[in-house]
Amino acid sequence: MKEETVSGLVLDGSTLAKEIERELIPRVSRLKERSGRTPILATILVGDDPSSATYVRMKGNACKRVGMESKRVYLPQQITTERLLAAIDELNADPDVQGILLQHPVPRQIDERRCFDRIAVEKDVDGVTVLGFGRMAMNEPAYGSATPAGIMRLLRRYEIAIEGKHAVVVGRSPILGKPIAMMLLNANATVTICHSKTQGLAEMISRADIVVGAVGKPQFIEGSWIKEGAIVVDAGFHPGGVGDVELAAIVDKCAAYTPVPGGVGPMTIATLIANTVEAAERSLKPKERTTYP
Ligand code: NAP
Repeated sequence: MKEETVSGLVLDGSTLAKEIERELIPRVSRLKERSGRTPILATILVGDDPSSATYVRMKGNACKRVGMESKRVYLPQQITTERLLAAIDELNADPDVQGILLQHPVPRQIDERRCFDRIAVEKDVDGVTVLGFGRMAMNEPAYGSATPAGIMRLLRRYEIAIEGKHAVVVGRSPILGKPIAMMLLNANATVTICHSKTQGLAEMISRADIVVGAVGKPQFIEGSWIKEGAIVVDAGFHPGGVGDVELAAIVDKCAAYTPVPGGVGPMTIATLIANTVEAAERSLKPKERTTYP
């Protein structure tokens, strides 16, 4: 008799992202009717890194699909922190701009933290400011960092149980590892955060009910480290269409997984656009503008 293999549930970010975009279209139309203006997401790209340029282009295209505009600001590789801060100040002061995205990473000579924190918190739709992070961590209103917020949305959509589960996050970057750890904690998971100095990583991962790969190294998390029935979220994306997890080795033994591509990536963009629409809606409510965040 032929042995049946059961694949883990695919957490399909592409399909959910399309659903989110469809829901945003009428909201953007209403915004245009009410304000007479088209909501704008400003994207700042420093230098000529081709991957970053692609991400920025994809975000601009998503704006168009829902009826918004994007204002693309390109700055040269050699720019100073002061010049970048001035560009952010201009966008902060522009009433037509509802959201600001500074594409990470910026060139080494730039103080990225200072620049992120210059973004007005009500326009911080990518959730990169210290204030936004702190508020999110404390369960206060804030736009969570787009990639982890997109992951949480995807987990909710598929009704993945988080409460009481042991989540192991591999990576502690400000835009991904740290915020997803806080979001999982706020959803009542027990969270272990691993990083480059962690000892016994494989063993740590083997105890996880939920694994989040946010390392930035192709297929670094080996399939054999992951226990049967785990939920696997792979945030990585590398040339050749692979992520941070050796996904081919786990699809038949995990309970659910995010594919690469088509998992976390589309959710990041959809969440960013959704946050910008929300920021535009908030900007039309004078009372909230004074109290938010
Ligand atoms: P990052 O800033 O480079 O952070 C990588 C993290 O991995 C760091 O915290 C680092 O630890 C940790 N790490 C490195 N080597 C390790 C090791 N041997 N063992 C355990 N941990 C180790 O990367 P990121 O910006 O968070 O991105 C991570 C991945 O997600 C990348 O593949 C990136 O392309 C992807 N990403 C995808 C999206 C999307 O929209 N799909 C968005 C953002 C990022 P230390 O802190 O100790 O150095």
